Amino acid sequence: MQEAMHFIGGDWVPPGSRETIEAVDPSDGQPFARLARGNADDVDAAVRAARAAYEGAWGDTSAVERGRVLARLSQLVAEHREALAQLESRDTGKPLREARADATALARYFEFYAGAADKLHGETLPYQSGYTVLTIREPHGVTGHIVPWNYPMQIFGRSVGAALAAGNACVVKPAEDACLSLLRIAELAAHAGLPPGALNVVTGYGSEAGAALARHPGVDHLSFTGSPSVGALVAQMAAEHHAPVTLELGGKSPQIVFADADLDAALPSLMGAIVQNAGQTCSAGSRVLIERTIYEPLLERLARAFSQLRAGPSRSDPDCGPLINARQQQRVAQFLAEAERDGIACAARGTIAAEAPADGFYQAPTLLRDVPRTHRIAREEIFGPVLAALPFDDEADALALANGTPYGLVAGIWTRDGARQLRLARRVRAGQVFINNYGAGGGVELPFGGTGHSGHGREKGFEALYGFTVLKTIAIRHG
Ligand code: NAD
Repeated sequence: MQEAMHFIGGDWVPPGSRETIEAVDPSDGQPFARLARGNADDVDAAVRAARAAYEGAWGDTSAVERGRVLARLSQLVAEHREALAQLESRDTGKPLREARADATALARYFEFYAGAADKLHGETLPYQSGYTVLTIREPHGVTGHIVPWNYPMQIFGRSVGAALAAGNACVVKPAEDACLSLLRIAELAAHAGLPPGALNVVTGYGSEAGAALARHPGVDHLSFTGSPSVGALVAQMAAEHHAPVTLELGGKSPQIVFADADLDAALPSLMGAIVQNAGQTCSAGSRVLIERTIYEPLLERLARAFSQLRAGPSRSDPDCGPLINARQQQRVAQFLAEAERDGIACAARGTIAAEAPADGFYQAPTLLRDVPRTHRIAREEIFGPVLAALPFDDEADALALANGTPYGLVAGIWTRDGARQLRLARRVRAGQVFINNYGAGGGVELPFGGTGHSGHGREKGFEALYGFTVLKTIAIRHG
C-alpha cells in the first residue's frame, strides 16, 4: 500500500508522530493508501519553511519569474493530466471524465495566474500639491489553505495559484478524505522551479492539522473552503491573531425556471448542476423553482431524465460516482428518510449499477417534488444527488423563494424576458448569477464566492489576487 508523507520545504517528511490515516476508495470502501497524520508540530515546520521561502528565494523572485514558474507548472499538470485524473478519481470516487476535467481546469488555473502575476499593480493618487502618493500591492506573506475533498485539484488551483502569483508562500491542509493529487502537484511544482518552502502540503485531520494551521500565528492569511460550521470555527481561530480569512462555504443554490424559458436548453443544465460529482458541489443547483403553469410538464421531463441516471464505480462510466465516505452516505440517507417520513413525494429515482461493490458509498440520484418551503430539504445543503422541486406563482414569489435560505452562492435564471433577467439578477442573493445557463464552477476568469452562510471574499479571476495582497499607501513629500 502506498504510504504518503507531508511535503515540507521541498522534501517528503514523515509525520512527527509517525501516525497514519487510511485513504479509502469510495467506490469499494477499501483502504488503498496511508496518509501522514499531521499534528501541530508538522504544521509549525511547514509554516517555518514557508516563512523562510518568503523571506528568501521566493520573496526575491520577480513577478515575471513567478509567472514563468506557474506557466511551467501549468504545462507539467497538462502533461500529467491522465495520471492526476486517475489518482483523483480513485481518491474521491468521481467518474474519470470529471476528474479529467478537473485536471484540465487545474492546468488552466495555473495558466491564468501565470499571466496575471506581472499585471498586479497599484495606482498613483491625486493629493495635496507637493506630494506624490502611490499604492502598491504586497503579498500577505505566509498563506494557509484548508481544502475540502470534493474538488481537491480545482480548489487548490484557484486558491494556491492566485496566492503564489501574488508572491505568497503557501501551506496547504487538504481534506483527510482526498489529498493524494495535491501531494503530487506539490512535487510537480518543485520540478517547475518553485523554490523549496514556497508550497508545503501537510495532511491530517481537520481538528488536528487543520486547527493547528488556522491557529498558527505565523499564518498571515487563511483561505478556507468547506462547511459553514467549520468555516465559523476557523474564522474564530484566525481572529485570535487577526489574520484575514476568505471563506468559501456551502450553498442551496436555486435554478429559477419561468414559463417562457427554453426548456430544451434548460433541462440538461438542470440535470448537470445536481448530478455532477454526485451533487457534492458547493455550487450544485440543488433547488429547482418552477413557474406553476409549467410545473407538471417540466417535472415530468425531469423525472424521466432522473429515472435513467445510474450511480456506479468509475470503471462503469456512470452518471454519478459514489459519495465520498460512509458518513456522507448516511447523511444523505437521513435527509431522504426525513422526506419520506414527512410525506414528501419522490418524483423519480435513478439506479445503482449492478457492478457497484456492496461496500461502496453509492446513492441513487433522487428527485423530490412539492417540497414544503420551510422543510429542511428545501433549506439545507444535502451534498448529494438530491434535487428539490418547488412551484412558484410569479416573479416576486420566485425571488422570495430563491432568497429564502441563509445561503447565497449561485443562482440560475431561465427566462427569455430581458428586463426580468436583469431585475432578478440584481435582487437575487448570490455571488454568481447565470442567465439561461448554469456555468457554476467553470471559468477561472469569473470571480467566485458567496454571501451569508456561503462565506465571504472572492476566489478566481483577478479579484482573487486582490484578496491575496495587502494595499500599502506611500506618500512622498517633494523636496
Ligand atoms: P469540512 O468543513 O468538514 O472540511 C473542509 C476542510 O476543513 C477539510 O480539509 C477538513 O479537514 C478541515 N477541517 C475540518 N474540521 C476542522 C477544524 N476543526 N479546524 C480546521 N480545519 C478543519 O467540509 P467538507 O465536508 O470537507 O466539504 C463539504 C463542504 O464544503 C460543503 O458545505 C460544501 O458546500 C463546501 N464547499 C464549498 C466550496 C466553495 O467554493 N464555496 C467548494 C467546495 C466545497
